[in-house]
Amino acid sequence: MSSSVFEEAKGQLDKALEHFRIDEESELRLRTPKSVLQVSIPVRMDDGSLKVFQGYRVRYNDLLGPTKGGIRYHPNVNVDEVQSLAFWMTFKCAVVGLPYGGAKGGVTVNPKELSLLEIERLSRGYMSAIADFIGPNVDVPAPDVYTNSMIMGWMVDEYSNITREHKPEIVTGKPIALGGSEGREEATGRGGFYAFEAMRSGLGLGGKPLTIAVQGFGNVGYHFARLAAEAGHRIVAVSDSKGAIYKKEGLDPVGVNKVKQEQRELKAAYCKGSVCEFVEHQQITNEELLELDVDVLVPSALEKVITSENADRIKAKCIVELANGPTTNDADVVFEKKGIPVIPDILANAGGVTVSYFEWVQNRTGYYWPEEEVNSKLKAIIDKAAAEVLDLGKEYKVPLRTAAYISALRRINEAVKAKGTLRNFSMRR
Ligand code: GLU
Repeated sequence: MSSSVFEEAKGQLDKALEHFRIDEESELRLRTPKSVLQVSIPVRMDDGSLKVFQGYRVRYNDLLGPTKGGIRYHPNVNVDEVQSLAFWMTFKCAVVGLPYGGAKGGVTVNPKELSLLEIERLSRGYMSAIADFIGPNVDVPAPDVYTNSMIMGWMVDEYSNITREHKPEIVTGKPIALGGSEGREEATGRGGFYAFEAMRSGLGLGGKPLTIAVQGFGNVGYHFARLAAEAGHRIVAVSDSKGAIYKKEGLDPVGVNKVKQEQRELKAAYCKGSVCEFVEHQQITNEELLELDVDVLVPSALEKVITSENADRIKAKCIVELANGPTTNDADVVFEKKGIPVIPDILANAGGVTVSYFEWVQNRTGYYWPEEEVNSKLKAIIDKAAAEVLDLGKEYKVPLRTAAYISALRRINEAVKAKGTLRNFSMRR
């Protein structure tokens, strides 16, 4: 098995195509990215030296509309990863029925080693390098791992400086003051929670409160955990890159997050700060967290954390993928055999891009919605997509991931057919 993330991602598509045939031309167009841009970003560091960072933007497919997707800052960013993430964005937008194609961007950098001003210069440099490649009707970036609303604010400002026009709809996930949407910050976690609530009784987990372990306690994992705890579920473990904490009786996600924010890392919550005053917890490793005996496991960090190595040891009754690509295809086979449902990333984490879409709509109309309206519109979209995926799973007798791909393929295929294919050409009158 190839270690390429992109090959893994395309393996998921292949599986769906075994059950749901699409036009040959649609398939061809889904196998390769539309365009791939690599840029060098020179950045003046605080000590006066110059560093050159590598950045990428991949527009994977625009059959359904302008391409859409976040920008990741991470030391492991490379073109294989960025195009895989852009591939997943294509199917994610289609599953929830957004008028968007898929894209993704990234910079190979460890942002934790940079000062705030260096990150600002890098972000403006990246925007300046990709400005001709994107556009409000072409390709619209957003936050992803280790980028946030502050960084999107710098980018939108840079784009306005370059184009000498005010165009907030060039980037989503902006600060509210610069045209961001209410509810965008927590939208990915909230969408994941809605998807889970909409599907759980159909997966045999309805009714009672459940125990949950969240791997990755960043923005997405935190908001999911907070909403799940508010709904009465028990968050027994959370982790970040430094380690994990476990408490059988349940952790308070708000309290843990407060300490994490103050101390900058979850490890600080082990023995320092307010959480320890009212929380007795056990320190465990990230690997142990994945294998806990819980009802629901929520990977919310990076790709390939659940593989053929550990899939057999996973005891959760359901997996909710808030990260992109956390489960390898080999691991999927194990879960299928064991009957463990996986609510797939392209549905479970689609809440972020859905509210990004709302932000783009609000920017284009210049009329802004209250948070309750954003949340109820998000719930309507996720509920509908979740029901559709559950139904397709039953109809085709396939796991939820394959069902989600089938749902996306149906929409993409319709668009291709409507644009005209060889079939039309040979049927011409
Ligand atoms: N980075 C997020 C994702 O992976 C959000 C993308 C967006 O809002 O465009 O879905």
